[in-house]
Amino acid sequence: EGGAIRFPFDNSYARLPDRFRARLDPTPVAAPRLLKLNTALAERLGLDPAALASPEGVEILAGNRVAEGSEPVATVYAGHQFGNFVPRLGDGRAILLGEVVAPDGKRFDVQLKGSGRTPFSRGGDGRAALGPVLREYLVSEAMAALGVPTTRALAAVATGETVLRETPLAGAVLTRVASSHIRVGTFAYFAAREDGEGLRILADHTIARHYPEAAGAPNPYRALLDGVVARQAALVARWMGIGFIHGVMNTDNTSISGETIDYGPCAFMDAYDPATVFSSIDQFGRYAYGNQPRIMQWNLARLAEAVLPLLAETEEAALASANEALAGFAPAFEAAYLGGLRAKIGLPGERAGDAALAGELLKVMAENGADFTLTFRRLCRAAEDPEGDAAVRALFADPAGYDAWATGWRARLAEEGGDPAARAAAMRAVNPAVIPRNHLVEAALAAARGDDLGPFEALLDSLSRPYENQPGADEPPAPPESPYMTFCGT
Ligand code: AMP
Ligand code: MG
Ligand code: MG
Repeated sequence: EGGAIRFPFDNSYARLPDRFRARLDPTPVAAPRLLKLNTALAERLGLDPAALASPEGVEILAGNRVAEGSEPVATVYAGHQFGNFVPRLGDGRAILLGEVVAPDGKRFDVQLKGSGRTPFSRGGDGRAALGPVLREYLVSEAMAALGVPTTRALAAVATGETVLRETPLAGAVLTRVASSHIRVGTFAYFAAREDGEGLRILADHTIARHYPEAAGAPNPYRALLDGVVARQAALVARWMGIGFIHGVMNTDNTSISGETIDYGPCAFMDAYDPATVFSSIDQFGRYAYGNQPRIMQWNLARLAEAVLPLLAETEEAALASANEALAGFAPAFEAAYLGGLRAKIGLPGERAGDAALAGELLKVMAENGADFTLTFRRLCRAAEDPEGDAAVRALFADPAGYDAWATGWRARLAEEGGDPAARAAAMRAVNPAVIPRNHLVEAALAAARGDDLGPFEALLDSLSRPYENQPGADEPPAPPESPYMTFCGT
């Protein structure tokens, strides 16, 4: 029946003091049309997919109707953009509809992105184009299927309106789902205003919501900082392990919950090269693949600075505490990253030479332009059958580099012992067969712009099973004719 849609809303962020957000409704669009609904995610949230896909549901997902229980707000935050502090950014084209408490008790933000101007829009139009909306849908859902903490995509709706970029483009609205949209930049906002009370309210809210175990620690705020450091170290290690380049690791795009957020200019590497940068505005490679751990540490230092007044009575003690917390990043990252690499090359046990062995493989891959994803995927077979070497070798400009490495690897595998088939299976569970390849994403978006969602659907389906072998996904793409380039805020 076309009855009222019930969202189990409980809007804790909207109940925070007024200075945390602006209360406003989304701006209606001309002709909402549902492009895609994430049925599985809807069910996970306890929402009825059929109701969401109904005309009333689509109106809600377009921002043309405010659901019962929704208290739409645009949240305020600051951010370091490419290192430069901007004291007030905020949701310039997004509206938080509210928080849904799922049947398992987990709380999720439901946010519209591209839903019109807000008090934080600055020069922007508050809107989003179809291509970037579907791109975020594809890549964020691919990340979720890969097992990486991430915001999700619940729906994409065409607006029937045009957005003006360099050329006129079809508009769309994305419904984004996140554990929350609290960012490092949210803390920086209150810190920069020297709003100690606001800072404490935000920290208490964050602890209750994301780090409840910190509440019982001797210093809950220090425990909060430690918790964010640990989750972000683990997150960046996951990115590194799948060749993901976030592209715009500003502090306003660094979530406090430890989820990947902001899929503007991100992309996956094909050929392994730590210097890889895709974002058109990242001229100096600040956010290059290989810089990501360092940048995350820098972003966490900005968080530590912001919460300094909460850490201790004296500035000296607070600085010492902040530095201790930050010193936890490198060992946590290294352990997670090395653990990931070990699993990727089939080594559940730990030996002193493992980091050097994995590092040597990466070095040879970089020297020989080897495809990152396929090298590791093809190694899975080589781990159980030396005849699999031929397929790995074929990815290297000079296969001799691989051969030399494989000799040492086989010796190490022999030390490890165990059943080769089980080892290969374990490797296949961590080395994806498919990732959102740039050329495939672009082809799907080009078709979608021409009203054919077939390639988008097919790619989304393939990306939902990243660890399964899939026909046609087992060859490296031809090198692009010109360097692949991504864009923010389109
Ligand atoms: P981003 O580069 O995506 O992290 O966005 C940085 C800031 O710009 C955020 O405050 C966004 O809300 C804002 N922004 C991006 N695109 C638009 C737009 N089209 N209209 C208004 N604000 C925008
Ligand atoms: Mg952003
Ligand atoms: Mg963005």
